[in-house]
This record gives sequence, C-alpha cells and structure tokens, in this order.
Amino acid sequence: MLSGIHKKPGIRGKFLVISTLSIALCALSVFMVSLKEYEAIYIHSVKNNLEALIDNVADDLLFTFSEDQDSFVLKNKLLSFERYDHILYADVYDANWNLLERYSKTSAKPVHIIDNPQYQSLIAKKTPFPVTHIDDFLVSMDTIGNPDFPVGYLEVIHDFKQPIANSRHDLLIKAIPLVLLILVISLIISWYMFQRIVTPLISLSVFTQRVKHSRNYTLRHPAEGVSEVLHLSQDINAMLETINQEHQLNQEQNKKLRRQQVSMFHLANYDHLTNLPNRRYVMETLKQYLFSAQQHHTDMAIFFLNVDRFKDINDLMGHTIGDELLRHLSQLIAKNLRPNDTLARLGGDDFLAVLPDLPDAGIAKQVAQTIIDELKIPMTIGQWEIQTSVSIGIAMAKASDFDIDTLISNADIAMSHSKTVGKGSYRLFQPQMLRQKRRTLQIINRISTAIDNDEFFLVYQPKVSRQGEVIGFEALIRWNSPELGMISPSEFIPIAENGGKIGEITSWILCQAIRDLDEIQSTCPHPLVVSVNISSKDLMTPQLENVLHQTLAAHHQDITRLQFEITESSYLEKFDLANQFFSRIRALGSSIALDDFGTGYSSLSYLNRIDIDTLKIDRQFVVNSFNSDKDASVLNAILTLAQQLGLHSCCEGVETEKHARYLIGKGCDSLQGYYFSAPVPLENLAQAVQSSIQNYYQLFALPESHNHD
Ligand code: C2E
Ligand code: CA
Ligand code: CA
Repeated sequence: MLSGIHKKPGIRGKFLVISTLSIALCALSVFMVSLKEYEAIYIHSVKNNLEALIDNVADDLLFTFSEDQDSFVLKNKLLSFERYDHILYADVYDANWNLLERYSKTSAKPVHIIDNPQYQSLIAKKTPFPVTHIDDFLVSMDTIGNPDFPVGYLEVIHDFKQPIANSRHDLLIKAIPLVLLILVISLIISWYMFQRIVTPLISLSVFTQRVKHSRNYTLRHPAEGVSEVLHLSQDINAMLETINQEHQLNQEQNKKLRRQQVSMFHLANYDHLTNLPNRRYVMETLKQYLFSAQQHHTDMAIFFLNVDRFKDINDLMGHTIGDELLRHLSQLIAKNLRPNDTLARLGGDDFLAVLPDLPDAGIAKQVAQTIIDELKIPMTIGQWEIQTSVSIGIAMAKASDFDIDTLISNADIAMSHSKTVGKGSYRLFQPQMLRQKRRTLQIINRISTAIDNDEFFLVYQPKVSRQGEVIGFEALIRWNSPELGMISPSEFIPIAENGGKIGEITSWILCQAIRDLDEIQSTCPHPLVVSVNISSKDLMTPQLENVLHQTLAAHHQDITRLQFEITESSYLEKFDLANQFFSRIRALGSSIALDDFGTGYSSLSYLNRIDIDTLKIDRQFVVNSFNSDKDASVLNAILTLAQQLGLHSCCEGVETEKHARYLIGKGCDSLQGYYFSAPVPLENLAQAVQSSIQNYYQLFALPESHNHD
C-alpha cells in the first residue's frame, strides 16, 4: 500500500536534484554574467590604456621624427614597448606610408591577424583608426604629429587573448571557492527548509494514503511542522473528524437500510402467519430446483397439501383457532420434511412442499404417509382438541417434463383426487387423474345446459312398509347426456357439489318432483311421501327454500308430501344451518330422513339435538349383516336406537327375500331396494308399486326354508 509511494521518484530526491541544479544554475549564470561584465570592463580599461600608451609613444616619436630620422633612435623608442607584455607588434610608417621601423616582441608567436580581412581592409584605407577589436587582438593606428599634417603613423597590435585568459583564470581562482561556499550554504538552507516544510508534507501525504487505504477515519495526524503545514494538518484532522461523523452516520443509515431491505424481503417472500416462504418465493425456488434437476438428470417431488374441512373449523371455532391450527400444521409438516426440503404456504389452507433430489417417488410417499400418520394424533389449540387431516397430492418433476406449471397442476390434481377418494390420504399423480379432471370439468361445464336441454330426469324407487304398503318413493336423478352418455349421480352429484352447481340441480329436482306429485299419488290410494335428496351445499343457498315454496304454491301442493334426505355427514357439516332449515320445514309438516346412517360419525350424541324423523340405514349393514357379526350388531343397535328415540327406520339396499325377511324380523319400519323395485321413471311407477307389493307378499307365500339368498 504505502510502497506505492516509494515506487514513484520520491519528493525528497526530486527536491534535492532540483534545488541543487537550480542553485548551481543560478550561481553559474551569475558567474557568467559577472565574467562578461568583468571582460567588458577589462577590455574597456585595456583599450583606454592602450590608447593613452599609443598617444604617448606617438608624441615621443614626433621628436624623433623632428630631429633626424635615425633608425636606431626609432628602434630604441619602440623598444619601450618591451615593458608591455601584451604588445606584440608596433610598426612606424612615414607620411607616405612607407614602413620605417618595426617592433616585434621576441616571445611573440607568429601572428595571424595579418591574414584577417577586417584588418587588411583597415590597413588598406591608410588612415589612422582608434583601438579596434579584431579576433583576439586590439589594433590601433595613430597619427604621429598633427593629425592635419602627419609626419608618420604608428600601428600597434596588442594581444588580447592571453591577458583575458589570464584574467579569467585569476577570476575563477578567486570566485570558485566563493561560489562553492554559496552553493553549500544554499544546499544547507534548502535542506533545512526541506526538513521543515516538505518532510511534514510527506508525512501528511503518507498519513492521507494510510487513511485512504485503511478507511479508518478515526486516525489523526500529529500537529507538527511549520505553521502552514501545521494548519494543513489541523485542517485535515478537522476534515477527518467530519468525514468520520458522516461515515458513522452513513453506516448507521446503511444498517437501517439493510434491516429495512431484509424486512422488506421477508414481507415480500414470507407468509406472515406461518413464517413459511410464500407462493412467490417458493415458485422461484422451485424454478431453480427444476432447472438443476433437468441439468443433472435427477428427479424431485412436490407435495400439494390442503387441510381437510378447514373452512368448517374456521366457521365453528373462529379464525384465531383456524390461524393457530395453520401454524401448528405448518410446523408439524415441516418437522417431517428433510432439511433440504422447502415448505411454503400458497395461501388459505394450501401448502406446497418441494423435495429435491429424489431417485423415485418412494421416499416422497413415505414422507407423505408420515405426515398423515402424525396428524392422526389430535392437537390441542386453545381450549379445543382438534383432530384434523391433510390431503396430499404428489407430483414428480420428470413425469411433468420439468415444467413448473404442469408439475403444480399435477400435484393439485392428485390432491383433489385424494380428497375425493378419502380425506387424510395422499395420492401420487397418475395420468388418468388428468383424464378424470377433464371429465370433471366437462361435467361441470355441461350441467347448466343439461338442465336447459332437459337432459335430466327423475326415477322413483318405492319404499315398502313392514306391513306391505308402499308408503313413499325416493326421487333419484338421472342424466342422459348426448355427449357423455348416461352419467351416474354418484359421479356427477359430488362434482356438482364441489363445482357450485348443486343448487341448480336441487332446484330442478324439487320442481320436477313437485310437478310429478299428483301422478305419483295416483299410484296408491293412501297418502304418499316423496323423498328428495339434498346436500349440505344446498343448505347454503337461501333461494332453495323460496323455490320450494313457490313451486309448491304454483302446483297447489302441500309440503307434507315431501321428505328431505340428507346424509349425516352433510347434516353435521352444516349443523346449525341444517338445524334451522329442517326446523322450519318440519314446522310446516315436512319430514327429514338421515341418509346413509352408520357410515359417518361414530358419535351419536348429536342425535337428540337434531330434528329428524327417519334413520335411513346404509345398505352396507344390510348386505354385510349376513357375513359380519359386527355389522349385524351395528344394524341391530341402530334399529333399537331408532325405536328408543321414536324415529322411523328405513333400510336401503334390500336386494333379496332373505334381506327383507331378516329386516322385517328385526323390526325395521320400511324397506327400500331392488328386491321390491329398482328406481323407475314416472310412467313405470304404477307397475313398480304392483311388483313391490307382489314381492312383499311373496315373502309370506313361500315357505321360509326356500327363502335363502
Ligand atoms: P342414495 O341417496 O343412498 O340413493 C340410493 C342409491 O342406492 C341409488 O343409487 C339407488 O339406485 C341405489 N339402490 C337402490 N336400491 C338398491 C339396491 O337394492 N342395491 C344397490 N346396490 N343399490 C340400490 P343412485 O340413484 O345411483 O344414486 C346414488 C347416490 O347419488 C344416491 O345415494 C345419492 O347420494 C345421490 N343421488 C341420487 N339422486 C340424487 C338426487 O336427486 N339428489 C341428490 N342430492 N343426490 C342424489
Ligand atoms: Ca337417499
Ligand atoms: Ca342412502
């Protein structure tokens, strides 16, 4: 982290290089400028001196010229230049520019100035000129005598290179130690400044990098360095304080947001009642499991679970108990699943369990059975002891082509199937269930049109008293559908009940039976009663009672001619509604028969709390009484019970003479069954009455020993 700073060229090195270079450069440029200045001054002074010297020598030479032009004297005069180290040559010309004498310094090296074009052009002019700088030399030409009347000319060549080099050398010798001293002092000063300013800055920079990488905003930089750096460090500390506060605030906000997110996720994906995943969430999970199963060629199962008779529990015990029951159930079901399985509440009393990674349906079936078995133990909720059950539909992913909609629909169909077959059971989806479901849908969809098209008709089955009189008929519905053929009421009545169509059917039956009443009555001289079957769902349709009274009125019929048959399970399912309805009906003179008695509830405690007239003993007891002692005892018990409660008893499914004889012997009040007559259409009713009576007397006409089976 911090090594990153060191990888780049350090500010310390840069600072040193730059400051050293710039100080050196400054010193050098100052030195160069002073050198130039020094040279200029030097040249100026040399020029002035040379001019004065030439003037003097020229004046001296004038005397020499005025005496006689003795070359010796002239030479001697010129030798005075020997004192001047740098005068190389001196030429003396007469007025006509003839060279009279030449002085040349003994040590002088050959001078190349003669070849210089500037020099040549000056000399060629043959006029005096002041001290002139040519190459490394100073050259001058002066008049000897009055410039207007010259007697001769003096030309001097002064070496300039050597003296300036010498002087430069001298200057360097003197200046270099000074420059070095300045350089060292400057470096020391800048090092000191560096330590004072830059080091704290570097430390600040390192510090900010540390904060940046550690994100620890509680760090503080020690207050040090020159005042600006100190302020800067204080400002950074203050800024860090603010950032730290904001950061903490931010973190708190973030935590709050995260908590909100979690709770929003929970709200969106979990069921608030059971805390189980909801439909939305389980669908997502299921999609992923299906995808993975398809990829890895494995199989998996889902359970569609529905609580049996949950609505009744809700209605009877209240929604608080209902909710508590759902919570209990969800825990119990979840407890029996494997850790990897998911249980979700789809809504209402529908649950969905996802069981991934299964080789086949075997384990799924075992799990379903365990759940069903565990539910057989009643659970205590509030002050209630509730014994409930669930119906489970199992569907396998492979068999559903790993399609989520098909899979769920299959499990749902299997669940509905278990409900129809017997509540508190499980079923594995089979393709024929789908066919059955389609047929169910066809049946439901056709019921209303079937009523409009008169596809339904009633058949009547006589009930014969123990004294041999036809006392009434049970109206039984038949459906001859052009599309589906003859459909048994055992098939379409439960479908109509579950599909909300039973009300329409029962209304139609009531109307038809009431319409048929006169014709039915015409078959017998004494008053007859026609029994009509109604289901628990009919009790929930208030218009049924209106239809009943209106139809009775329309056909001028009396309600006393009607009896209502309701199964004990239907009665108990809608206990209060049934009690109210039947009380009203009975008050008007109608009668009530409890149908299929003995097949439903084992508790008979309700019997003295309900208003009924007849117990219709289920045909299983009649048939089985000859094979099973237990059923024979039940039949006896029911007959005794009916007698003791003052109820009329009617046995169904009397198929043989033996049955009839036995039941009459046991004190059964009336008998109904194929032995007397099958249910027949209205037009065959008179005939059915005849054969019923005939068959009754047959019982006594034949000797008893011939009446076996
Ligand atoms: P249920 O009310 O117990 O009707 C008696 C059933 O037993 C009738 O079957 C009848 O034909 C049949 N049965 C009569 N005698 C004998 C016999 O000696 N042996 C045998 N094995 N069966 C006999 P069905 O008509 O097929 O009706 C079946 C069930 O369908 C009825 O049972 C009833 O629950 C329902 N159902 C029939 N008609 C109506 C109706 O008009 N309204 C309503 N709500 N349900 C009806
Ligand atoms: Ca019946
Ligand atoms: Ca029955």
